[in-house]
Amino acid sequence: MPLGLYVHVPFCSAICNYCNFNRGLFDGELKARYVSALRREIASKADGSPADTIFFGGGTPSLLEPAEIAGIVEVCRQSFAIDPLAEITLEANPETVSLERLSGFRDAGINRLSFGVQSFRDEELRRLSRLHSADRAREAFAMARAAGFDNVSLDLMMWLPQQTLAEWLSSVEALIDLGPEHASLYLLEIYANAPLRDTMARAHWSVAPDDDAAEMYLEAMERLEAAGYAQYEISNVARPDRQSRHNLKYWTDQEWHGFGCGAHSTRHGVREKNISSTPDYIAAVTAGAPLASERRVLSDQERLEEALFTGLRLAQGLRVDAVESRYGVDVWDRYGEELLPFVEQRLLIYDDGAIRLTREGMLLANDIMTVFIGPPVR
Ligand code: SF4
Repeated sequence: MPLGLYVHVPFCSAICNYCNFNRGLFDGELKARYVSALRREIASKADGSPADTIFFGGGTPSLLEPAEIAGIVEVCRQSFAIDPLAEITLEANPETVSLERLSGFRDAGINRLSFGVQSFRDEELRRLSRLHSADRAREAFAMARAAGFDNVSLDLMMWLPQQTLAEWLSSVEALIDLGPEHASLYLLEIYANAPLRDTMARAHWSVAPDDDAAEMYLEAMERLEAAGYAQYEISNVARPDRQSRHNLKYWTDQEWHGFGCGAHSTRHGVREKNISSTPDYIAAVTAGAPLASERRVLSDQERLEEALFTGLRLAQGLRVDAVESRYGVDVWDRYGEELLPFVEQRLLIYDDGAIRLTREGMLLANDIMTVFIGPPVR
């Protein structure tokens, strides 16, 4: 199968109060050095392998100049056999784009945009310390269309501080009104040291009860479905043929090459992670030193577990015959006894050679997937 290429861009204009990604504040001089390091890394790993997706993730990749993106896409083309119809995605924050910049990204080869909108309510955006407003997100979307993008994804986050079910659904409806080709819905996770935690404590903000969070998810999925979107993964919906081809590689047991600080790669059963710190990464590339800070040969059991975890995230579920032909394991034979209670609770369906979560099961996916950790209990 062709590879996916992931390019990490670790710069942001400001750091959001809930963010746990590998990112830092934008610095023009550091960015210029980083872009040349990225190009060197990609060229140094050139092997002409076929690849059919490139994904610029971050951070905020739309802070790069269109010419910088063009240069990176070009070095990908020189280093790998990039499919002429490759999906090339740029993650973008609404406040960073203009019609001119978006047209430049399109000329650079970008054919899919993924906007971090998070909410269409200004009050919620302020609570998350985001830099854009709901109107700015709408303008960015209109500019993307004007620049010729016909494959646009919008991210929303649910279960925000003080957010009610009705408020969440108003954001979902605002997204449906815009009509992107793809949408991702994430649950806000507030990690232990997130500044948002302190802000919430000081302001006496809370999140809705668990039952409401479940309702938020189920009702949003129903409304999106009624509007013509099909759910294809726990957090993702798309119009027909507009699924994220790049992200599907992660969920369908395929291989990818990650470039940049902190980027992961999985090839030939080996998982590697690049040095996380941006300056250390640049220094290592400049010195021609090894870039991987972690390297692990995945065991057969780990590869199987990962295929099961990710496959079960998909709405179509796990194909039992596909797992058997790849790993020599009949999933139902091995795990059926532990999975049966979930089937009885209608959280899981086993029919037609596939094991898949019901939508209620998707809410409890992490609990159900523990069945796959380690050898079966029997
Ligand atoms: S823009 Fe995204 S990556 Fe940057 S700080 Fe905010 S959440 Fe994190």
